[in-house]
Amino acid sequence: MIEDKNQQRTPLSELGEFGLIDHLTRNFKIQHKSTIKGIGDDAAVLNFKNKNVVVTTDMLVEGVHFDLSYVPLKHLGYKAVIANLSDVYAMNAKATQVTVSIAVSNRFPLEAVEELYAGIETAASIYNIDVVGGDTTSSTTGLLISVTAIGEVETGSEVYRSGAKPNDLLVVSGDVGGAYMGLQVLEREKEVFKVNPQNQPDLSLYTYIIERQLKPEARKDVVKLLEDLEVRPTAMIDISDGLSSEIIHLCKNSDVGCDLYEGKIPLDPQVISTCEEFNIDSTTVALNGGEDYELLFTISQDDYPKIKANPHLTVIGHMKEAKEGLHLVTRANTRIPIKAQGWKNFN
Ligand code: ADP
Ligand code: MG
Repeated sequence: MIEDKNQQRTPLSELGEFGLIDHLTRNFKIQHKSTIKGIGDDAAVLNFKNKNVVVTTDMLVEGVHFDLSYVPLKHLGYKAVIANLSDVYAMNAKATQVTVSIAVSNRFPLEAVEELYAGIETAASIYNIDVVGGDTTSSTTGLLISVTAIGEVETGSEVYRSGAKPNDLLVVSGDVGGAYMGLQVLEREKEVFKVNPQNQPDLSLYTYIIERQLKPEARKDVVKLLEDLEVRPTAMIDISDGLSSEIIHLCKNSDVGCDLYEGKIPLDPQVISTCEEFNIDSTTVALNGGEDYELLFTISQDDYPKIKANPHLTVIGHMKEAKEGLHLVTRANTRIPIKAQGWKNFN
């Protein structure tokens, strides 16, 4: 489906490992004072003075986390960085550096790895991140990409999953379910393409949800917004593994229960229409779809006036005593216990 625009196919063996590293990393420039030494020695050197440092890492494996028949490599590089930045922001921290490690097989020419790095560079430049190192090795099977992100936060300003209190409001940024429905559309088009490669799919009805799947953004803006509004979340978590499983994590870690209101869950109209087309329940998708790089957090009720008019934030429920449990309150006002269901088991 994705056209191969690169006519040239330079074998990686032509460059060798060090040649490849030099080539891929030649454009990275240092932006942050905290980066004392970036790429080019045995280790990067960072200095955060009196700030706290957060570190997070994620690995993406071909065939498990992505399918190169419809994921352009540029988007994959971008998304690999975004997935990590999202975890940094979920700590209420500012992302400053990443390292990028890749394992590539011989079936990838240099031009393909260049595409991957073009996506990494774009993310680094948009989110103002220094790429300070990584590792490059060969793989006998698929492509593997592992990113580690580093961030800084004023000591004491970090926000954990564990601080939510009964009566706090439960808030989510953006909208949910889009990335999962985008994936459904891409999977369907892949099947159509297998049968009829001449078929040019019209994806114009699905642009938003496909973008949510292929080119997600991390909510750096939400961390800044909360700071500007002087709202300090009591607990926060990234919901890329799915809204329901992350609500469960947050409640468990904070030792609270919660009521989540089905009717309040923010859904884009394209998610609703595509769910209808696929005959899938949009609430199930919103709860279990995953890969929406949004932030879920709790705030004290006193802070409600500060966020209530904000189009990026939606109050979807409130916290309760742990003994009251976790429930979805449906539109029909019935109470359904929220159960764990990772997106991988979703069908
Ligand atoms: P070492 O032998 O110490 O592992 P390498 O030769 O692998 O060093 O790497 C040389 C430098 O290039 C190091 O600074 C390393 O962090 C960086 N580097 C290696 N691979 C990558 C990559 N894929 N992306 C970014 N930086 C990389
Ligand atoms: Mg190395």
